[in-house]
Amino acid sequence: MSAPNAHGEVRQILDMNAFRPGDTKAQAVERRLANLGAASVLFYREPIEMVAAEGAWMTARDGTRYLDFYNNVPSVGHSHPKVVEAVAAQIAKLNTNTRYIVAIVDEYLEALKTHLPDALSNVVMTCSGSEANDLAIRVARAATGGSGIIVTETAYHGNTALVTEASPSALKRGSLPDHVIAVPPPGAGHFGEDIAGGFRASVEAAIAEFARRGIRPAALLADSIFSSDGIFSDPAGFLRPAVEAVRAAGGLFIADEVQPGFARTGEAFWGYARHGVEPDLVTMGKPMGNGFPMAGMAARPDHLASFCTDVGYFNTFGGNPVAAAAGLAVLEVIREEGLQQNALETGRVLLDGLRDIAAADARVADVRGAGLFIGVDLADEETGRPDADFTVTVIDAMRAQGVLIGAAGRYGATLKVRPPLCLNREEAERFLTAFRAAIRV
Ligand code: PMP
Repeated sequence: MSAPNAHGEVRQILDMNAFRPGDTKAQAVERRLANLGAASVLFYREPIEMVAAEGAWMTARDGTRYLDFYNNVPSVGHSHPKVVEAVAAQIAKLNTNTRYIVAIVDEYLEALKTHLPDALSNVVMTCSGSEANDLAIRVARAATGGSGIIVTETAYHGNTALVTEASPSALKRGSLPDHVIAVPPPGAGHFGEDIAGGFRASVEAAIAEFARRGIRPAALLADSIFSSDGIFSDPAGFLRPAVEAVRAAGGLFIADEVQPGFARTGEAFWGYARHGVEPDLVTMGKPMGNGFPMAGMAARPDHLASFCTDVGYFNTFGGNPVAAAAGLAVLEVIREEGLQQNALETGRVLLDGLRDIAAADARVADVRGAGLFIGVDLADEETGRPDADFTVTVIDAMRAQGVLIGAAGRYGATLKVRPPLCLNREEAERFLTAFRAAIRV
């Protein structure tokens, strides 16, 4: 995936604001590269060595404390004591493969299902979002008899062979296979005022193109907040016509909730719920265990059964007792600490503050988002074009002021504002102060 900067130069988004061979190497970086090799992905040209974290804050080896506006995994707060205790207690008592009945696993799944549509009463537990999406695509194919997958043009859905094919943002060269078609993300930039109608029309065009290729659609696979496309949240409801279109063509709707799920959008527990749709399959991961590697896929029993007739599914670690303990603690913390409401209220402070800044500075071209998931488009002042260079400058300037943040979007010129759900008002204000200063550099 390549992106033009304000001067029309093309560059790799994945390499943006990342350590690159040739950058100054501290000893710890040398050691890391020697161990992990070419697949090592590090933030910043001068990577940070982290030693601890708590709440919304991370501490580096040199003692610098950073406010974490990037990390959506420890979503209820870094090292949350309730999750830590639950994991520690369970691993001290029993952890095993998933072929035994262990009460806490069913307790967890029943608690999780209170948040899901009644029809999706089976949940398959996995260890990563990639595995969950891989399985969802396979289930959708078995249930529909189709193979075509529709995704958005800068989507990322994971790292297995199958899911990489459906992740245009992971492609460094080459093109998508015939059974994957990418459509523009649902934003005003592509569709003007009628985002819902425009998005539906592009999904219908993809279905027509599949027909021309002799391929039947299996699913529309969408991250319901379109994170790596640059965050597209409004107007709520825009997903519905596209979902209807894919269903009319015999396909399913897979909601990838790996990023927006677990209360982040403030308005709902899942991103899809803001759009008034019930997915056929829901995949989830990242914040599910607050850092404990766990993920899952919720499905209708008949869909899952049709898949399991042909192939079995077993996951050694997926949904083990420790994962269940972590997941249960996360659900309890979200409820006890009112984190969905906090995401809504603190997200509003950020949205309002960022929109005020945008009104006064042409380089902040657009602010979109829901709850604590906000995208901020940065543009060249004169041309108004997405400015990837300026975005890197801002990310580095934020780091210098002790705030960690990353970029997303087709042009790598959208700041992804995605702090832990426990963020408080003072921390939100601190971010806004740092951002005001960073865009002045
Ligand atoms: N879906 C989305 C929307 C993601 O952002 C990611 C990870 N960035 C995945 C799926 C894959 O999850 P994992 O890295 O846990 O395999």
